[in-house]
Amino acid sequence: MKVLVTGGAGYIGSHVVRQLGEAGHEVVVFDNLSTGYRWAVSCGELIVGDLADEAAITEVFNSHRFDAVLHFAANIVVPESVENPLKYYSNNTRNTLNLLKAVEKHAVPYMVFSSTAAVYGMPEQTVLTEDLPLAPINPYGASKMMSERMIMDLAAASSLHYVILRYFNVAGANPDGLLGQATPEATHLIKVACECVTGKRDGMKVFGTDYDTRDGTCIRDYIHVEDLAKAHVMALDYMAGGGESRVLNCGYGRGFTVREVIDMVKQQAGKDFPVSETGRRAGDPAALMADNTLIKDVLGWEPSFDDLKTIVSTALAWEKIWMEKQAQ
Ligand code: UDP
Repeated sequence: MKVLVTGGAGYIGSHVVRQLGEAGHEVVVFDNLSTGYRWAVSCGELIVGDLADEAAITEVFNSHRFDAVLHFAANIVVPESVENPLKYYSNNTRNTLNLLKAVEKHAVPYMVFSSTAAVYGMPEQTVLTEDLPLAPINPYGASKMMSERMIMDLAAASSLHYVILRYFNVAGANPDGLLGQATPEATHLIKVACECVTGKRDGMKVFGTDYDTRDGTCIRDYIHVEDLAKAHVMALDYMAGGGESRVLNCGYGRGFTVREVIDMVKQQAGKDFPVSETGRRAGDPAALMADNTLIKDVLGWEPSFDDLKTIVSTALAWEKIWMEKQAQ
C-alpha cells in the first residue's frame, strides 16, 4: 500500500514507519519536525510541512494517491494541554479536521488514528474496555476524543474505514538501537528515569504515594513501542482484508507501579539516582490498564515484548545512544 504517515518523524511514528518499510509498504511522511527528527525517518519520502497549512496538505494529496493515512502528528503533554488548551484543539483537533477534508476529497479508503487512554478520563474500573463512556478530564484527552468522533462520523458518511488505537503508556525503543524517544523535555516516567541515569537530570519525583495501590503509587500499563507499532501494520492488513472499522485498546492488560518502574530502571542501569516523593499530580487516576481482548481477537495481535525489563533496557540503551548522537 501507499501510506501517508503524519508525525512519522516522531517517537511512535518513526517506529511504525520502519515496520511499514519492512512490510513492503511505500511510505510518505508528513511532519513539521517540531518534536520529530529527519534522521528518524528510516524509509520513504519525508515532506516537511504542517497540518495547519491546508495548501500544503492539498499539495501532498494532489501529488500522491494514498491507500491509507496513519495519523500520529499531535501534541501529547497533558499538563501543557491544561495550560494552553487551544494549542491542543488547534494542533490535534483542527489539524485532524484539515487532514480529514483531504481524506474525504481523495476518497482514501483506510485510516489508522493514534488515540489515547486519556479519552476515558478517571474511570471507576482499573481495567478498561473500549465501550466505556468517554469522559476525558484534560484538553489533551478531549482533543483526541473529538478527533475520534470526526473520523467515525466521516466513516459513517463515506467509504472510509478506520482503526482507532487507544494507546496506554508507550515506552521502550527499537531493540537494535536504531530509534527511540528523542522528544525534548519529555515528561513520561520511563524517559525521565532514563535521563536520571545518563545524568541529563539530577533526580526525579514520584507524584503521589497515597494511592490505593500495592505500594501507594500509580499503576500504569506500559507497552513496548515495537508491539504498538506492530498493531498499526496489522490494522492496515485487517482493513485491506475487508475488516470493519474498530476502536481498539493497545496495552498488555497488566500494570506496574511508579516505584516498580523506577526500581527496574535503577536495577537495569546498575546505578542509583535521587528520587524524592511529592504530592499527587492533578488528574492522575490510581490505576489504568487495558482490556486487550478486542485487539487480540480482531487483529490477531500478540505482544512480543511484554516484559518491563525489556521495555526499560531498550529505553536505557537508546537514552545512551541518543546522548552520544547529540554530542556529535
Ligand atoms: N510520574 C512520576 N514522576 C515523573 C513522571 C511520571 O511519578 O517524573 C508518574 C505519574 O504521576 C503517573 C505515572 O508516573 O502516575 C505515569 O505517568 P506518565 O506521565 O509517564 O504517563 P501518563 O500515565 O500520565 O500518560
